[in-house]
Amino acid sequence: MGKQGTIMAECTDTHPSAGVEDMPDLSDADDSGDDEEQWQWMEEDSQHITCLFCDKLLNSVTETLQHCTVEHHVNLVDVINKHNVDDYSYIKLINFIRSTKCEPSHLMGLPDGPLPWESEDFLRPVIQDDPLLQTDPEELCGQQGAGLSTFEPSGAQSHHAILQRATAAEERARISEEALARAMEDMHKLKLLAQGLVLNAETRRTANMGSIAELQDDEDEAYFSSYGHYGIHEEMLKDKVRTETYRDFMYSNPDVFRDKVVLDVGCGTGILSMFAAKAGAKKVIAVDQSEIIYQAMDIVRSNQLEDKITFLKGRIEDICLPVEKVDIIISEWMGYFLLFESMLDSVLVARDLYLADGGSVFPDLCNISMAAIGDKQKHQERIAFWDDVYGFNMACMKKAVVPEAVVEVVNADTLISEPTVIQTIDCNRVSLSELEFVSDFCLKITNTTDCTAIVGYFDIFFDKGCCNKVMFSTGPQVTKTHWKQTVFLLERPIPVQAGEELQGKITVRKNKKDPRSLLVTFDLRDRKLTYNLQ
Ligand code: SAH
Repeated sequence: MGKQGTIMAECTDTHPSAGVEDMPDLSDADDSGDDEEQWQWMEEDSQHITCLFCDKLLNSVTETLQHCTVEHHVNLVDVINKHNVDDYSYIKLINFIRSTKCEPSHLMGLPDGPLPWESEDFLRPVIQDDPLLQTDPEELCGQQGAGLSTFEPSGAQSHHAILQRATAAEERARISEEALARAMEDMHKLKLLAQGLVLNAETRRTANMGSIAELQDDEDEAYFSSYGHYGIHEEMLKDKVRTETYRDFMYSNPDVFRDKVVLDVGCGTGILSMFAAKAGAKKVIAVDQSEIIYQAMDIVRSNQLEDKITFLKGRIEDICLPVEKVDIIISEWMGYFLLFESMLDSVLVARDLYLADGGSVFPDLCNISMAAIGDKQKHQERIAFWDDVYGFNMACMKKAVVPEAVVEVVNADTLISEPTVIQTIDCNRVSLSELEFVSDFCLKITNTTDCTAIVGYFDIFFDKGCCNKVMFSTGPQVTKTHWKQTVFLLERPIPVQAGEELQGKITVRKNKKDPRSLLVTFDLRDRKLTYNLQ
């Protein structure tokens, strides 16, 4: 009785089929459950049903309808058919007859037009658990049309029909889900294709030249304004590895600087210009396009170096130096993964325009290195994380997360290969076009595990003509710098064996849509993985 009571209670105030939403898990219904329910419905069927037009109690829906037809000359099925009574309207019809105690003749002789049971008030059942309300009008008509002399217990019919409809709906949903998954996969492929086309698009097309130049102007404005704020300079000055290496190079090599004319490309707060002046330079020309140069002017005055240091505000590419040639160019131009920001391009412009024969650019040598990482925990945190976010599947996010190289400090314990140098740059010789390159590499694996990522970093050398050569590294094995390291996550880790050589190819090129950002592509074990560094 408990279960029946529940079903009846759910169905009482609503349309029989409206109970679908309230049904307990339909797909789990098995044969034994059906039997039990059938029994319950039979039990219900054996209850008494009050006639629609008199007080007579009848034993089933069938008997009730037959009684109405014979005794009161009302064929309910005819009424349903004549007035196109749907499920919803049927409930109102039954409750209308019961609540208004309407004459049978009134029902059979209704004129065309609005029906008297249209009011929503008739949705309220007049009789508690009225079995007539459990009956599906369509089935009533169908059964009578088929000439059946008795109806199956109406509730069971309705319940069975609901189950069938639910099963069919489930099947349709499953087919639709499969189709949707296929469509999503196709869309993803198209998206990747479109991205590839956009990122690799030839920018030489003249029709687009104007807009790309404008875009670059806007981006340059944003770039220089980012250097206008003190925070970024504070971070650089507090990076002791960086700043002290520049200082040590200049202070410990006075022969290199004595009586020389020095150009500081991108002077910022003027720190390198002041080191050079203190190291014995005859004249320092400090250039910066950013507003920070006004602070640098004050700083230099505060340190009584204004006689030695001359400031020029503007892009090094645009301004005109007060001298024809310089002996030394100093600059701190390095970005993440060395080449991000592309400021070396500006240093090379300055070199080609202003460096005297025999002059030097410092720092002069730079290495870009790589190593393999095996860090399953980090991989889990970054990649598997998206599979279940507070119970939701966000796995599609992986396609956005993976291609973005991450700038972070790598724990040296997670390195699983020896480092390898993939590119060496000599700032005194390199040409602009060589800053985009392809390099084969070979990582000597030291641990048997899964390779979950590749780390990239760079080393800087002050070498040319120096008695005291100095250098610093931004690698994971040494004191961290503000450049940290650059991590390229592998969505699917690569199993590796200690002693094996993981071979691959790296392509570094500028993003043509944003030349200050880089596109780095790895060809690794039949996979082509492209990362954006922005
Ligand atoms: N030399 C300073 C600042 C380095 S940050 C230091 O070592 O602390 C780089 C600086 O170069 C920024 O202030 C930026 O505005 C400037 N810069 C970058 N490209 C430039 C260009 N093409 N012309 C002039 N200044 C540039």
